[in-house]
Amino acid sequence: MSIVQVKNLKKHYGQTEVLKDISVEISEKEVVCVIGPSGSGKSTFLRCLNRLEEITSGTILVNGHEMTDNNSDINKFRQEVGMVFQQFNLFPHKTVLQNITLAPIKLKGKSKTEADALGMALLEKVGLKEKANSYPSQLSGGQQQRVAIARALAMEPKIMLFDEPTSALDPEMVGDVLQVMKDLATEGMTMVIVTHEMGFARDVCDRVIFMDGGYIVEEGDPKVLFTNP
Ligand code: ADP
Ligand code: ADP
Repeated sequence: MSIVQVKNLKKHYGQTEVLKDISVEISEKEVVCVIGPSGSGKSTFLRCLNRLEEITSGTILVNGHEMTDNNSDINKFRQEVGMVFQQFNLFPHKTVLQNITLAPIKLKGKSKTEADALGMALLEKVGLKEKANSYPSQLSGGQQQRVAIARALAMEPKIMLFDEPTSALDPEMVGDVLQVMKDLATEGMTMVIVTHEMGFARDVCDRVIFMDGGYIVEEGDPKVLFTNP
């Protein structure tokens, strides 16, 4: 069953056509990597999926909800779509645990006790239970990114979007973050990942989408596409 259906998506900034005609369906539990040159529209595509950008035309359905309908409840929709950015964007004056529990308490009405239990379970999952009471500035970039992933998961999303999650990290931190993403894939999380990590794309993703100039120019099984004949 497809969880995301994108039809004839176009996005213009003024006269600039950034996404020209994107149609794609993503199945439940599918892990899709989006690759392509800088400026090809990868990041814009992800932000459209999360409604961080208004789309110019076309339709986006996520989990059956029509996202081009102006009356639709964007906040409710965003709860179904977790997003992780290149920059971790953690709240600097809140602890690691508070970063994770804020949205479940404010947006989902969970009690502090419930949210704390969920937060600790997620911190355990990303290997950072002992950092619960630390502040983001006390963590390495890789640790902060793992907290950002836990924070997104705390909303119990149906799908996770990652926009170059390891591009801002020192090389020695990249593996830990990719491992968390690999674990999520194994658990059956639906994911769309913009990345330059070709090894990860080949080993973990079910499908790779190549973008260029605002179009999807090729897509397929990475094990086939990345194998030299
Ligand atoms: P990628 O993620 O593949 O590097 P982006 O989606 O970031 O590509 O950008 C695609 C194109 O859209 C680029 O030419 C970029 O300059 C342009 N662009 C992105 N955001 C904006 C914006 N807010 N206003 C105008 N142009 C933008
Ligand atoms: P990334 O490399 O992560 O895709 P960019 O550096 O392209 O990010 O863009 C960073 C921010 O600047 C984004 O919010 C994007 O919308 C905005 N942006 C990018 N290109 C332009 C542009 N030509 N005009 C206005 N804003 C832009």
